[in-house]
Amino acid sequence: MAVDVLISQEKIAERVAEIGALINSEYAGKELVVIGILNGACLFTADLIRQINVPITLEFMSVSSYGEATKSSGNVKINLDCRNDIAGKHVLVVEDIVDTGLTMLKLRETLVGRGPASFKLASLLFKPARNLHKVEINYLAFEIEDKFVIGYGLDYAGKYRELPYIGVYSE
Ligand code: 5GP
Repeated sequence: MAVDVLISQEKIAERVAEIGALINSEYAGKELVVIGILNGACLFTADLIRQINVPITLEFMSVSSYGEATKSSGNVKINLDCRNDIAGKHVLVVEDIVDTGLTMLKLRETLVGRGPASFKLASLLFKPARNLHKVEINYLAFEIEDKFVIGYGLDYAGKYRELPYIGVYSE
């Protein structure tokens, strides 16, 4: 297998710092509940919160999307939910990648239904070529081409999450 570096460790750090600064100015004087989406957003979440200087509480969720085939009310399954009630709180969800957008659309619906004071989304990556469901990304680190990426939290069959950069995987 080969991995071509798409976004270097330095570029990621630079962008994460920029997003952190934006978050600090937009949430000045407020408290924030940061919800990192496991497993893919683990590194992005860990790096981003270290750039945030307003008080936060950290939560994690794990969700899986069933795709278009399932027509049930929510085709996102919550494998791990937040521990605390988010009603009346400012919520920032931190995701690895918005691809078709289905996972985030459904998760957003679920979380907004719980009555937070505000809801915003930070995503490390966005693939516009594959996007079907419009979800507003308030803080986007990088827009990328339609390629399968790994590293910096993203996996291929459970591997490569530990790579410090974002790469394109090929056999
Ligand atoms: P969506 O519901 O937006 O189509 O799917 C988003 C999820 O698909 C992401 O959270 C991620 O787990 C997975 N995904 C989409 N594109 C990629 C990619 O290029 N690489 C990896 N590793 N996962 C991806």
